[in-house]
Amino acid sequence: MSHPIDPAQVVVVGAGPAGCSAAVQCVRLGVRPRLLDKTGRPGGLVRNAFRVENYLGLEPMDGKAFVARMSNHLRRFGVEVERSHVRRVGLSGGPGDERFFVVTTREGVIHARSVILASGTQPRRLPVLQDLEAPVSGAVVGEECGVPLVYHEVADLRACAGGPGHVAVVGGGEAALDFSLTLARSGARVTVLVRSAELKACGRLVEQVGAAEAVAVRMRARVVGCRRYSAPGADGKIALDVDVAGEIQPLMCHAVLVAIGRRSALEQILDSDLLRRLVGRGLYPEVPGLFVAGDARTGALGQVSMAAGDGIEAAMAAVRHVRGEHDHETALHDR
Ligand SMILES: Cc1cc2nc3c(=O)[nH]c(=O)nc-3n(C[C@H](O)[C@H](O)[C@H](O)COP(=O)(O)OP(=O)(O)OC[C@H]3O[C@@H](n4cnc5c(N)ncnc54)[C@H](O)[C@@H]3O)c2cc1C
Repeated sequence: MSHPIDPAQVVVVGAGPAGCSAAVQCVRLGVRPRLLDKTGRPGGLVRNAFRVENYLGLEPMDGKAFVARMSNHLRRFGVEVERSHVRRVGLSGGPGDERFFVVTTREGVIHARSVILASGTQPRRLPVLQDLEAPVSGAVVGEECGVPLVYHEVADLRACAGGPGHVAVVGGGEAALDFSLTLARSGARVTVLVRSAELKACGRLVEQVGAAEAVAVRMRARVVGCRRYSAPGADGKIALDVDVAGEIQPLMCHAVLVAIGRRSALEQILDSDLLRRLVGRGLYPEVPGLFVAGDARTGALGQVSMAAGDGIEAAMAAVRHVRGEHDHETALHDR
């Protein structure tokens, strides 16, 4: 008996490196997936990268150029990114019915035989900056109105606030230093505020930041207060109170870029039943047809090549699943 629902074979949530790799691999295997991203464009976090130099076989390039290559790759395989913000993923029906994944998006509902979750990570927010997070009227670093003051991605900051200006970057890890180099390259002055006594980034980034004249790094510096500020000739729109080794120092800036870590946000997308059945950080949750790939799986910022590998593996398993083939994933489930 035919079912009234005409489900998609594979739905991929997120068009970062994991989701795009998964989509391309699905097409190579003969299944055309639906690739959804809330931004409507491919790239994910890598668009922020100052310099991607560890993707085997490619010459070093910045994140923007890397994303342009990803877009070309999708185009060659006829994959389009649908602008779609996924709110919930659950399962339809009950025992006895043919069950589908129900993907509820801001734009509508999609049924699918298999879902690959490649939705990456969410930034950790700095509660003390809450008052600054709402957009304000008035220019920040060169735009007319409604420009936010607090950012979590340098690509958004550059798109919204432009440059140059003085930006406070909060955090001492790879993302914070990478953001700082991108800002310095675009002409901004940067002050990096690091809460601890040492940087958590790798040697090469630390060296590059050390050599960048436009970047100043303050160690043991914790943001403890903030307010909007407006005065003719002031060096910024924001006044931060920074606790530097116990002494409160003011810092004026035009925007704040927060990079204090990221975490997977699967609990916001998966319904409670599916969430309960996620097994550790595995690619194969205990639900046939559901796969988690890339940074969403590890729950932290990873690397493009790791996300791409995950995406390919997830696509292969998803295609086996929709074809009803007994595979590693169903074998796991059957145990
Ligand atoms: C500053 C910076 C520099 C980096 N430099 C490098 C580097 O040099 N080399 C390297 O290998 N890696 C680098 N990385 C890491 C790399 O970018 C990530 O590991 C990689 O992008 C992870 O890919 P992903 O597809 O798992 O997730 P993401 O890239 O985070 O993509 C997730 C996608 O899911 C979408 N999404 C999220 N929620 C939803 C939803 N509810 N509905 C629809 N869509 C949704 C998002 O819009 C996003 O497009 C860097 C990262 C940063 C931040």
